[in-house]
Amino acid sequence: MNDKPERLIDKKGLRLDGRKPDQLRPVKLEVGVIPAADGSAYIEQGKNKILAGVYGPREAHPKHLALQDRLVLKCRYHMAPFSVQERKSPAPSRREVELSKVIREALEPAIFVELYPRTMVDLTVEVLQADGGTRCASITAASLALADAGLPMRDLVVACAAGKADDKIVLDLMDEEDKLGSADVPVALMPNLNAITLLQMDGKLTQEEFEAAVNLAIEGCKQIYAMQKDALKAKYMSVKGEGEE
Ligand code: ADP
Repeated sequence: MNDKPERLIDKKGLRLDGRKPDQLRPVKLEVGVIPAADGSAYIEQGKNKILAGVYGPREAHPKHLALQDRLVLKCRYHMAPFSVQERKSPAPSRREVELSKVIREALEPAIFVELYPRTMVDLTVEVLQADGGTRCASITAASLALADAGLPMRDLVVACAAGKADDKIVLDLMDEEDKLGSADVPVALMPNLNAITLLQMDGKLTQEEFEAAVNLAIEGCKQIYAMQKDALKAKYMSVKGEGEE
């Protein structure tokens, strides 16, 4: 383990990885990375590496989970044993069960579930490397995977967290800031509809700090949304390119 740093923000106002308080980590997005899945996407956000895959819509399995008037979204968030410093047990932890639910609830409002009664979409999120903010990066990638599967959606869902490190409100916390900072506020957004689908808070903030964190997280979401749209377009541009050869 690294020694605990004395400060998360230095005298110049920069963070441990050299970022300004309102700066995102580098984000890389790719759509359609798993040909066997109906839809898939990959995200790197800082050191996070996450893969999302979708099967469906197809007949619900097990059948008793089917709903007569809508599609059921089944979501599994899982961290690979090698995704963190100390081997993580591959069995689903309490945290993974909770994050699976949170991710599902953040995505569902974007899907026209009523168009597919008695069916199911299976969404799997596999965290290959984790460095803080994996629920948000998972939502960003999963929403691209759902779109890649051709599911009619009201909007993409994009997520980003903001929080407090030392006494400053900062965007997109990495693991050290998440652990040593005093608060973390993950936000998921449907940017075109201007609707929040996930809002959580871990830690303590004043009302003013909370509002500043939510606004900063929304700004981060909007930046990632532009990248999401580019990633979706890039897939279809490459398909078009292949056809032309
Ligand atoms: P999020 O990843 O959405 O921020 P948490 O706040 O629960 O969710 O986790 C923060 C970070 O803690 C994770 O991104 C990961 O880097 C780390 N972490 C989570 N679970 C484990 C674990 N079992 N062992 C080591 N680190 C973990």
